[in-house]
Amino acid sequence: MATALITGSARGIGAAIALRLAADGYNIALNDISEKSFEENDIADRIREKGVECEIFICDVSSHEQAEKTVKAVKERFGSIDVLVNNAGITRDGLLARMSEEQYDTVVAVNQKSVFNMSKFVGSIMMRQRSGRIINLASVAGIYGNPGQMNYSATKAAIIGMTKTVAKELGSRGITCNAVAPGFIKTPMTDKLTDEQKAAMLGQIAMKRFGEVEDIAGVVSFLASKDAAYVTGQVIEISGGIMM
Ligand code: NAD
Repeated sequence: MATALITGSARGIGAAIALRLAADGYNIALNDISEKSFEENDIADRIREKGVECEIFICDVSSHEQAEKTVKAVKERFGSIDVLVNNAGITRDGLLARMSEEQYDTVVAVNQKSVFNMSKFVGSIMMRQRSGRIINLASVAGIYGNPGQMNYSATKAAIIGMTKTVAKELGSRGITCNAVAPGFIKTPMTDKLTDEQKAAMLGQIAMKRFGEVEDIAGVVSFLASKDAAYVTGQVIEISGGIMM
C-alpha cells in the first residue's frame, strides 16, 4: 500500500488532507511539532478507522537534522514514501515598519526551509523509487501579497519557485511537484484575524464564502491521483475567486 507523509497534520488543512488521503487508500504518516498538538483531537484514530495504517512522527520540520531523521523513520516504518505534502506553516503578522527580525526569520524557517528539508530527503527516496508526488501549500498571499504579511508572503512566493524547480529537477524520474494556493480557509490559523479583517476579505471573494479545509483536501487528492500524472510545476489557486 502506498504511503503519504503530511507535515503539520495534527489539525486544520493538514488533518483534512490526511483524512482525505486515508480515504483514498494511503497509509498515513502524520507529523507535527509536538505530542501536545495531537492531544487536542483524535486524528490518528479517525484515520485508522478508514482501514489504513497510521503513525505519528513528531518533528520540527524547520530543522534539517530532525527532518532527515524523520524521513528515514517514515521510510523504515512504511517501506516507501509516495506522496509528500509540505503543509506545516505559521504566521507572525505585523506591518513592515514594526516587524521584528525574529518574526521574519521564524516564518522563513518554518514555512520555507521546511520545504527544502523535506523535499530534499523525501525527494531522494522518490528518485530511487522512480515515482512520487510532492504537493506544497503556497497561498494567495504569495501571489498577490497581503498587508501585514511581508514574512509570510515571501515564504509562500518562494514555495512557488521551489515547486517549479523541483518539478524540473525530478520530472525525468517520474516525480511530479505542484502547489496549491489557498485563499481564506476556516482554520485555527485564520481564527486569529479580527472581524474587520474577515469582512474585508469576504468582500473580495467572488463566491462570497470562506473556504472549508475539505476544499483544499480534494484538490490535493486529485494532484496525488493517477489522473494528475502529467501535471507538474503548477500552482492551483483555491480561493473562491479572489482575483481573476
Ligand atoms: P494551522 O495553524 O491550523 O495548522 C498548521 C499546523 O502546522 C499546526 O498543527 C502546527 O502545530 C504545525 N506546525 C507549525 N510549525 C511546525 C513545525 N516547525 N514542524 C511541524 N509542524 C509544525 O494552519 P492551517 O490553516 O491548517 O494551514 C496549513 C497550511 O496552509 C499552511 O502552510 C498555511 O500557510 C497554508 N494556508 C492556509 C490558509 C488558511 O486560510 N488557513 C491560506 C493559505 C495557505
